[in-house]
Amino acid sequence: MEYMPPFEVLKPSTIDEAVALHGQTPEARFLAGGTDIIPNIRRGIVAPGALIELSGIAEMQEITQTEDGGLNIGAGVTLAQLETDPRIAAAYPAIAKAASEVAANSHRNVGTLGGNLCLDTRCVYYNQSEWWRSSNDYCLKHRGEICHVAPKSKRCFAAFSGDVAPTLMIMDATVDLAGPNGRRTIALPDLYQADGAAHLLIGKDEILTAVTLPPNDGWATGYAKVRVRVSIDFPLAGIAIALKRDGEKLKAIKIAVTGLDSQPITLAGADALANHPFDDALLQSLEGLLPKQIQPMTSTLTPPGYRRRVSGNLIKALAKELFATAG
Ligand SMILES: Cc1cc2nc3c(=O)[nH]c(=O)nc-3n(C[C@H](O)[C@H](O)[C@H](O)COP(=O)(O)OP(=O)(O)OC[C@H]3O[C@@H](n4cnc5c(N)ncnc54)[C@H](O)[C@@H]3O)c2cc1C
Ligand code: SF4
Repeated sequence: MEYMPPFEVLKPSTIDEAVALHGQTPEARFLAGGTDIIPNIRRGIVAPGALIELSGIAEMQEITQTEDGGLNIGAGVTLAQLETDPRIAAAYPAIAKAASEVAANSHRNVGTLGGNLCLDTRCVYYNQSEWWRSSNDYCLKHRGEICHVAPKSKRCFAAFSGDVAPTLMIMDATVDLAGPNGRRTIALPDLYQADGAAHLLIGKDEILTAVTLPPNDGWATGYAKVRVRVSIDFPLAGIAIALKRDGEKLKAIKIAVTGLDSQPITLAGADALANHPFDDALLQSLEGLLPKQIQPMTSTLTPPGYRRRVSGNLIKALAKELFATAG
């Protein structure tokens, strides 16, 4: 049965007020655009008695220039704003591209940067109705005893499928957090861990308030994604690349991926390929970074082998495209 249980909506107007409200209602969850959490409530996956709506907090809705020429983007900024803001399009085109490929227009008009980064992980055994999951004895991620994807595992392999995170990682973004113990800033990769049932390393009482990007120091950036339905779908694989060119050589490259594990991942080892001629051997080496660093499982209807192959091809195609246009 699909249903919508009753819940209270609390509407703070400042970050401090939102933190205090969570202290008074510890079971409450934060609500941004609601395009992820509302379907999950309707499916009985989460059942908070209250939602703390963040859209009334003015300071979380702004994009401002930082003193060093980078950008500070409030977590409440919508994906549609990320897609169309001229400062983002000029300096961080990969971010604008990734935002433009999330879901459909209606989702992007309300879905936010913070919600995209804090998106729940996904799995074919989890994103189902209550009756479907109950008839399957639930699973490790919620209410059950075993993982149907890897029955001997004690870890959940549900996939992190947010499009925007890898495009921020290649730009060395940091995230600002606010909670009952005050404010802190962490590197974006430190927000995540490889556990589909607990992929976020922030407290349930902490709010992601903003993302800070350093100035783009000459990187050519792009994002490429493969999905089942091009008009509206989560990434089976999403690849973000930042590269610099020096004549016919690759001067530097950073690669981050999404949809291929329970967390977005910055590929290690790309540094070692700097200052190499940009030829077929280099493209093979870029693809070769993937296999040991990702772990796609049967958490989607598309087989892991396909997601491995297609992500390698995406890396090669996107690197070629960016190298051709890089100055
Ligand atoms: C049909 C459909 C297709 C979709 N396709 C895609 C896709 O292709 N790519 C993609 O990336 N996503 C996709 N989504 C998911 C979703 O629309 C986006 O990820 C969106 O950016 C989520 O943002 P939101 O503001 O709506 O999040 P919400 O639903 O409001 O929140 C999501 C989660 O983050 C938490 N949260 C939100 N903001 C904060 C914050 N500031 N601090 C701490 N926690 C917070 C919430 O408590 C909740 O757990 C799709 C959704 C649907 C329904
Ligand atoms: S990977 Fe396993 S534990 Fe995680 S949601 Fe899927 S079936 Fe459940």
